[in-house]
Order: sequence, then C-alpha cells, then structure tokens
Amino acid sequence: MLRENAREISEITQGIRRLAMDMIETMRTAPGIGLAAPQVGESVRLIVVTFGIEEDSPRPRVLINPELIWHNDDVESCEEGCLSVPDVTGVVSRWTEIRIRAMTLDGDTIEEILSGWTARIFQHELDHLDGILFIDRLSRLKRDLVKRRLKKRLRSETAAM
Ligand code: ZN
Repeated sequence: MLRENAREISEITQGIRRLAMDMIETMRTAPGIGLAAPQVGESVRLIVVTFGIEEDSPRPRVLINPELIWHNDDVESCEEGCLSVPDVTGVVSRWTEIRIRAMTLDGDTIEEILSGWTARIFQHELDHLDGILFIDRLSRLKRDLVKRRLKKRLRSETAAM
C-alpha cells in the first residue's frame, strides 16, 4: 500500500474524522512529526503534519487532499527518517518554501505558505500519498546501501519465523 497512489477523499465522513484522530494519536505515541494515511493502512489522501516544530507550541494539523501549488527555487538538504522505514535515515533535498492547498476536517479549503521544517514534513507526507518513500530520494549510493540493509533484515526475519 505504501507504493500506491492514494485516492481522493470526496466526503468527510465520521470514518474520516475517526481516522484523522487515530493518526494524531499514532503520531504522538510513535513519536513522529508527521503521518500519512497509507502508513496506517488507509489508501486515502489524508495527512497529519506538525506545524511550528521550531516554536514552543507545535500543533498537529489534519490536511485532506493536500496539494503543493507553488515552491521557491531554494532547496535544503536535511536528514530525514520515516516511521514506515525504521532505523534508516538519509539526507533529502526539499523546497524550503512552498504554497499548499488542502481541505480541513470542517470542509474548508485553505491555502498557506509553509517554510522550514513544516514545509519539509509536508513534502515528505505528500510523497507518501503518491507512493514515494524518502529512500527513493536519496543518492543512488546511499539508496543501494539502504536496500541491501533492508533486504538483509528481511531475510533474517524470515529465518526467525
Ligand atoms: Zn514517512
């Protein structure tokens, strides 16, 4: 499912609301700073992103059918990890400033400028909805290294069964 294109949400049902609340809970417990629905087994376009993690009061926001509608020309390379790819981190380049559009749980369409870490988390989570993992964005050398390590772990897990 992590490799699928997640489907658009056409109606905010009770189920969607519950999914969003569960995801915030899962993210807090992990702990993580962002989460996409496909990571919890639901192939729909819903993400939670922690806004303002550089500030005193970081807050999780639910974004439905999120889109990146503009970005600046600056990229920044930073170390990233992912709850779905445990024990692996890598340096990924992301736009430093973006304009996004999304729907809130109340059904309102919002447009906002995001920058810094919030912009990075958004781009990471949006990738999940398109079946892209951060390891796909690593340099080829690092990617091969990660793949070998994951394969080895898979083999040892199989052997332990
Ligand atoms: Zn992730």
